Amino acid sequence: MVEFQIPVLNDVPAEFDTKFTPGAMAHLKPFLAKADHNVPLGFPGELVDDWQKKAIDRMGDLVKRYRSLAVYLDSCVKCGSCADKCHYFLGTGDPKNMPVARQDLFRSVYRRYFTPTGRVFGSLVGARDLTKEVLDEWYSYFHQCSQCRRCSVFCPYGIDTAEISMAARDVMDHIGVGMKYCNEIIAKVHKIGNNLGLPKPALADTLEGLEEDVQDGTGHPVRFPLDVKGADILLVTPSADFFAEPHVDGLIGYAKVFHQAGVSWTMSSYASEAGNFGMFIGSYEQMYKVSNRIRKAALDLGVKRIVFGECGHAWRVAYSFLNTLAGPWDFLDPAYPVPQHIIEFTYDLIKRGGIKVDAEANQGMVLTVHDSCNVARASRMGTMPGGQFILPREVIKACVPKFVDMHPDTIGDKTFCCGGGGGLLTDDLMELRIKGAMPRMEALAQVIRDEGVTHMAAMCAICKSQFTKVLPYYGMKMEMIVSVHGLVSNAIQLGTNKI
Ligand code: SF4
Ligand code: SF4
Repeated sequence: MVEFQIPVLNDVPAEFDTKFTPGAMAHLKPFLAKADHNVPLGFPGELVDDWQKKAIDRMGDLVKRYRSLAVYLDSCVKCGSCADKCHYFLGTGDPKNMPVARQDLFRSVYRRYFTPTGRVFGSLVGARDLTKEVLDEWYSYFHQCSQCRRCSVFCPYGIDTAEISMAARDVMDHIGVGMKYCNEIIAKVHKIGNNLGLPKPALADTLEGLEEDVQDGTGHPVRFPLDVKGADILLVTPSADFFAEPHVDGLIGYAKVFHQAGVSWTMSSYASEAGNFGMFIGSYEQMYKVSNRIRKAALDLGVKRIVFGECGHAWRVAYSFLNTLAGPWDFLDPAYPVPQHIIEFTYDLIKRGGIKVDAEANQGMVLTVHDSCNVARASRMGTMPGGQFILPREVIKACVPKFVDMHPDTIGDKTFCCGGGGGLLTDDLMELRIKGAMPRMEALAQVIRDEGVTHMAAMCAICKSQFTKVLPYYGMKMEMIVSVHGLVSNAIQLGTNKI
């Protein structure tokens, strides 16, 4: 890792106070995927000889296949509204991290090969040949976009930089220049069933250990069932929930909620991953393959419902694509939504008194919440508009003595990415992750200072991992990040009022 300065936090969050530093992040690139990572996904092992032709052909395929992509590439008027809305631009000052500039890396090549004016007038209309230098720029800056879609909220045309970034990564994978972190993980899911490569015996051991811990801690026989045929609910959760902190506290919370609700549930060793990195590399083929594991597990186990654990991009894929990718789900009980989020499940129980929670169990804690970008801008929870913001807050408020929100420009649909989303949660991109976390850190520091906030709840496995890593760089304690269901786990009253 090269030496770099940790950004200084401004007193007022989300204000544009960035020094332009052209080329500041040009050196940063994730590790390149090797043949071992690419080939299992059906991609070339390394940069192919005729890469330029293949890249342009793939670009043409994507533009034809996804009308939205062509519209985004054709309709930008360079109004600049998105320019200062990206956390990576705010944290790095590199103008190529302005969303419009990022889009133009791809748009300029599109213009050159797919528009009449670009073919005739070339650079006069901002068109560029796809050279090796341009490809290197793509590799660097399309891996400095977490596909969080904040910029699209401010664009008068709704241009979605995330979709352009996904398309660029897809093109690069098809010529053999994918990123190691994402491709290695996807290959593990295909082979073993989860991002960590945790095989069934190790998973079973881990869950058994959790059962013992909870029994010892509470005196209640809370189960963590695996591969139970005929269970009503299949829980699909990010594999980080099995052991990482504070993720595992969330898993314990889900188990206590299921236990107290008296429902039968199970996890699956075959579909032991909610995350779907296929989205990060822009590959619907990979997304489909990963999603289909959930379908197969649901059919094999004969469950009636599917509930997702706390994972932002998993919920985005599940909410937006699960039905079209892996449906129809007509074998599940139609009385329940497919899929359902664990926060919806718990919220419903709290509302109708199905479980009781005691905020005093989290005494001394003053909570705020980080809206995960993928939950905020790409999904919903429950049936009410804005449910993805309301339900987590209602669950948290029921479980803690005091809750305060962060600056309004940094929450809800304007929330900032944690800095590690979009397949960037890898140590080879640590500089980007630290700098990209700056806007969220500013907002958090403000409520710590003004409201006495002690903890920040997160509902995404990537956010939890990212924050625990970057908080100390900004002088804050990693322990201040908690899972939403970690709070539920502390507050839930076990053994009484069984429904
Ligand atoms: S990281 Fe988010 S805000 Fe930045 S360009 Fe990508 S989608 Fe837009
Ligand atoms: S806000 Fe939209 S139209 Fe304006 S520069 Fe950004 S992408 Fe282009």
